[in-house]
Amino acid sequence: MGLCTSKDAVSESSIRRVHPLNMENSVVLTINYAKIPNKFKRLPQNKSCGLIGLQNLGNTCYINAAIQCLSNTQPLTEYFQQNLHNHELNIENPLSSRGQITNAYARLICSLWKESYQKSINPIELISMIQLWNPFFVMNSQQDSHELLAFLLDMLHEDLNRVKHKPYIEEKTYDQQPNQQQANKAWSDYLKRNRSIIVDLFQGQSINMLQCMVCNTKSYKFETFMYLSLPIQQDADLIQCISEYLREEELDEANQWHCSKCKSVKKSKKGIKLWKLPNILVIHLKRFKFTANYRCKLRWLINFPMYNLDLSNYSEQEQATYDLYGVINHSGTLHSGHYTSNCKNKDTQKWYNFDDTRIKEIMEKEVLTSDAYLLFYYKNSVDSYERQSEVIRSSIINSSASLPKQSSIIHGSYFNIPHTKLSISKLCISETDQQLTTPQIFGKKKSLKTNKLTPLPGKKPIFFASDNQKIQ
Ligand SMILES: [Zn+2]
Repeated sequence: MGLCTSKDAVSESSIRRVHPLNMENSVVLTINYAKIPNKFKRLPQNKSCGLIGLQNLGNTCYINAAIQCLSNTQPLTEYFQQNLHNHELNIENPLSSRGQITNAYARLICSLWKESYQKSINPIELISMIQLWNPFFVMNSQQDSHELLAFLLDMLHEDLNRVKHKPYIEEKTYDQQPNQQQANKAWSDYLKRNRSIIVDLFQGQSINMLQCMVCNTKSYKFETFMYLSLPIQQDADLIQCISEYLREEELDEANQWHCSKCKSVKKSKKGIKLWKLPNILVIHLKRFKFTANYRCKLRWLINFPMYNLDLSNYSEQEQATYDLYGVINHSGTLHSGHYTSNCKNKDTQKWYNFDDTRIKEIMEKEVLTSDAYLLFYYKNSVDSYERQSEVIRSSIINSSASLPKQSSIIHGSYFNIPHTKLSISKLCISETDQQLTTPQIFGKKKSLKTNKLTPLPGKKPIFFASDNQKIQ
C-alpha cells in the first residue's frame, strides 16, 4: 500500500465522495483515513472472493460463524486488506493481546479474501490466540457465539486503540434529560480513551435513565454500546423487540437503585434511549434464557427486515436506516446445537450459508429463520463512515511549505506514526469544539450529499489532518 504524498493529502479530490454503486475498486485508504467509503452496496462484480470455508477444530463452529460475519463486514475487512492495522497496533496497551489476536485475525481475513481456488482454511492460528488470551474458549467445548464476538471485537479494539495513554475521566450523571452538547462532551470524553476502527464502525451512544419511584429523582448517564441485546417475545417482530427493550421498566428487587435523594435503595425504574447510532449495528436476540430454576432456548421466529430497518424513532439525535448483511444462526437445543452464518457477499451481492467448510448460495427469503441469533446491519443512509478522531483538526498548508518537526507541533499519540507525510501548519482547533458540537442529523432519504467541512472564519480551509484518503 502506498502512502499518500502530502500533495494528495491536501488536494480537493482527496475528500471527493462518490456514490457507492459507482465506486471503483481502487479506493485506497491510508493510515489517517478520515472516511471509509460505504461499499456494502455495489454492482455485482465478476469475481467472487470471500467464499472460502473455515475448518472446524472440534466444536469451533461458534467461532467460525462469527468470523464469517465479521469477514463480510466490508469496511473492516478492507481496513485489514490495506494493512492499516500495522500502523495502529498498540502492543503496549495492557488491555490488548499485544497485537497477537489482531495479527492472526488480519492474516486469516486476508487469506479469506485472496483470489484463490482454496475451498477452506484452517483457522488454527487465530483460534489458538483467542484461547491463549481467554482460556474460557477452550477447544472441544461449544461456547456462545455472542460472547466470542464480544471478546474478539474487544481485543481488536484494544490492540488497535489509537490512544496510547488513557487519561482518567470522571463519569458524569445528570438529573435532567441531557442535551446535545452534553452528549457531545460525553462522546468526546469516551474518545479520549477509546479510538479505533472498532469504535469507528461498531459503537453507538445511548442514554440510560434511572428513576426513584418514591421521590421521582432521576439520574441520566451516557453510555456507549456495541450491540443491542434484545429480550425476545413470542409473536413479536424485531421492531417490537426493540421498542420493548427501550420501554421504561421497573427494576426487580435485586437490582433496585440507590437513590441519591432518599439516600437508600428504593423502588425504581430504568429506561434506555439511543442517541448516536452506530455504523454497523449488531443485534443480539436473547434466545438463551437462564433463570435460577431453569435454562432454555427460545426458538420463536422473530421477523426482521432485510432492508431499511429504521431506527429514527428510537434515537434522540439521528435518523438512520440499515440493511442486513449477516446473520449468525444457532440450530438445535441449548445443550446440543450448531452455529452457521448467512452472509451477503459484497462482490456477488448474493447470500451464502457458511457452515464450517461448506458454503452454499441461498435465496434471500432463506435468510430469515427461527435460528437467527445475531443480526448484522450496516447503515445505508450514509455513503461513508467517519473515523472518530478526537482533538485533531488542522489547517493544512500547501505541500511546498516547510514542515515543522512533528514533535514540535503535535502532542499526543495520534501523529506518532512513522512515515506520515502530512503537511500541517498547526493544530488549531479541537474536534470537541467544532465537529462534535454540530448535530449529526442524517436525512431519512438516502442523501448522498457531501458533508463539507466548513472553514472557520478568518482561517484557511480546515480539513481533518486525516483527510489523505486517496480515491484513484
Ligand atoms: Zn428517592
